[in-house]
Amino acid sequence: MRLLVVEDDKMLAAGLIQALTQAGYAVDHAENGDVANALLQQAPYDLLVLDLGLPKLDGFEVLKRLRNRGDTVAVMILTAQDAVESRVKGLDLGADDYLIKPFNLTELEARVRALIRRGKLGSNTALICGALTFNASDKNAFYSDANNKHQVINLSAREFALLETLMHKQNKVVSKEQLLESLCNWDNELGDNAIEVYVHRLRKKIAVANVQVRTIRGLGYLLENGLKI
Ligand code: CA
Repeated sequence: MRLLVVEDDKMLAAGLIQALTQAGYAVDHAENGDVANALLQQAPYDLLVLDLGLPKLDGFEVLKRLRNRGDTVAVMILTAQDAVESRVKGLDLGADDYLIKPFNLTELEARVRALIRRGKLGSNTALICGALTFNASDKNAFYSDANNKHQVINLSAREFALLETLMHKQNKVVSKEQLLESLCNWDNELGDNAIEVYVHRLRKKIAVANVQVRTIRGLGYLLENGLKI
């Protein structure tokens, strides 16, 4: 398991690296956004721990470029206590989790374990629904546009997990409980509302492939090729 810690505060970075190394991970460190951006294009990481306030390229930009490349590596952002807007912006840009500084290293390790566990559950087969192709082993989802060119759809790890469950059961109703299960490795306290939010985001992202997630009132959700109707 290879992790990249992006943190410019030397004391905090040293603490993070020591804790994660002791927990058995191979840990690389980048002290600014430029270095992080370069490392992320060279080596496949299992998890990225990303500070937002960074010299050169800030954390938002690193995250934005990462997702624009179609990389679905799990990302945990580190934010200041008062920065609600930063957290929201980070999650919108495709972060999977966040920790508020100062945080407890034991909590960090637990969150890291949960994110990595989730990342390992992929399978090898590409799943196809209409123009949408989902590939768990390559960790990507793309669609064929009007010119038959592949266009990557940028998904957070949670959106990716939801789509995986829906793709496996396409044209069948999947209950909220089943969707919750696909995410429960992260967050046991995730509620129905959270599922609705994630489904809403996913729905918007895959609409471009003419694939829709229908809400079946009282039962759950159903993924289908929108062109069939
Ligand atoms: Ca910083």
